[in-house]
Amino acid sequence: MLRTKLPRPAISEPNRIPREQHPISRANISPGALKVLYGLKDAGYEAYLVGGGVRDLLAGIEPKDFDIATSAHPEQIRRVFRSCRLIGRRFMIAHVRAGEEILEVTTFRGPITDSHERDETGRILSDNVYGTLIEDAFRRDFTVNALYYDIRDFSIADFAGGIDDLNARRLRLIGDPELRYREDPVRMLRAIRIANKLGFEIDPESAEPIKRLAALLREIPPARLFDEILKLFLNKDALANFEGLRKHGLFAELFPGTERAINAAKRDLELLRIALASTADRVKRDLPVTPAFLYGALLWPPYADRAYELEFERGHDPITAQNQAADEILAKQQQRIAIPKRFSLPMREIWGVQPRFEDLRPGRAKRLLTHPRFRAAYDFLLLRAQAGEPGCAALADWWTKAQATLASGEVPPPPDELADTAVEDEPAEPGAAPKRRRRRGGRNRQKS
Ligand code: ATP
Ligand code: MG
Repeated sequence: MLRTKLPRPAISEPNRIPREQHPISRANISPGALKVLYGLKDAGYEAYLVGGGVRDLLAGIEPKDFDIATSAHPEQIRRVFRSCRLIGRRFMIAHVRAGEEILEVTTFRGPITDSHERDETGRILSDNVYGTLIEDAFRRDFTVNALYYDIRDFSIADFAGGIDDLNARRLRLIGDPELRYREDPVRMLRAIRIANKLGFEIDPESAEPIKRLAALLREIPPARLFDEILKLFLNKDALANFEGLRKHGLFAELFPGTERAINAAKRDLELLRIALASTADRVKRDLPVTPAFLYGALLWPPYADRAYELEFERGHDPITAQNQAADEILAKQQQRIAIPKRFSLPMREIWGVQPRFEDLRPGRAKRLLTHPRFRAAYDFLLLRAQAGEPGCAALADWWTKAQATLASGEVPPPPDELADTAVEDEPAEPGAAPKRRRRRGGRNRQKS
């Protein structure tokens, strides 16, 4: 086990910003958060708004949620609020329900000491020592996340220079960056996401170690990474987060197969960029976004390469090739990121429909329109077309027309370049499907 001497922060008085010198008013804070803050205060505990809520309000952004830090221990929090659930993570957290809202309430964390269990890379494994306000402040990741709004007098306590960093639009880790990343490598992902959210630069000293330490993400439980990936990509900054992760060598750790494929083929990189830009756009417009579609895009490049290889180089029949490719790519990806079945199954269905778009016979086409994943699969075809996958633009065009006309029994004419595809009647004998065309240009065999 690695033992590192931690530079203990000099215990100092925080910089206190009185109510009249900062813009946060109770009108900006959700009713649920106020209820919890006052409930704790009235029961005799210290209670602060902290984290993203305070940070975002000071940066002029609407916060996603409000996190609360308190001197009350989990059992004591439960005694104050009837609607409280204790969530056992590495560190116990209380979820307090207030109307529609669920507030995350954490007890002040104590300092990290040599008694904390670590793995050989320095990652903290157990973390259950309670502490004081100031100790809690130095356990937080970025200086701008360690600003505490005090419900007693509405002042803000700044222990780590967060206000200066906010003014300089700078995201900076508290303490020694390398040590803080080693304690919890997910902080590298948080750095990219939070910097993009705020439009801040990552301070050079906080940015420098990331590339060197990126491989530490392999130590993180895949279920936790699944959550972090959704935060990064089902996000209005999805595209900027993708570029940031790649710039700092993190994407290759999360999606090694995809990184290889997009380095080999510009078109696949383009596909991801378009998918993430469109996800970002949907988030901005409050339209639904699904992990199944997102992962469908993120894993498409290695999947399609492998399916092509199995079908056209190893001679498997198409269905076997597709199933085996999906099995293999998912099994490899699960070693890094745990994708729950409720997302990986529909993802595979979206993939499975893609080759069926090439069958333009009226009976088949009409049946495909009623497929439960038709809509998502069609959107995916549009994505492939936009990315410039050979043949997809003409197919997408045909299916766009077909949706309007097939219901009334009319079949759009086949596009010229697909004229070799049977658009006549169903074959006489069942199962006698037209010969599959070898996809023009092959999957990215002649890499761009
Ligand atoms: P957002 O909610 O906008 O995603 P956030 O900073 O509030 O951003 P949360 O995951 O809600 O993120 O965490 C709340 C606070 O808990 C953070 O602001 C930070 O102070 C602390 N925190 C969260 N994750 C870590 C971590 N890995 N290491 C140290 N502190 C953390
Ligand atoms: Mg938060």
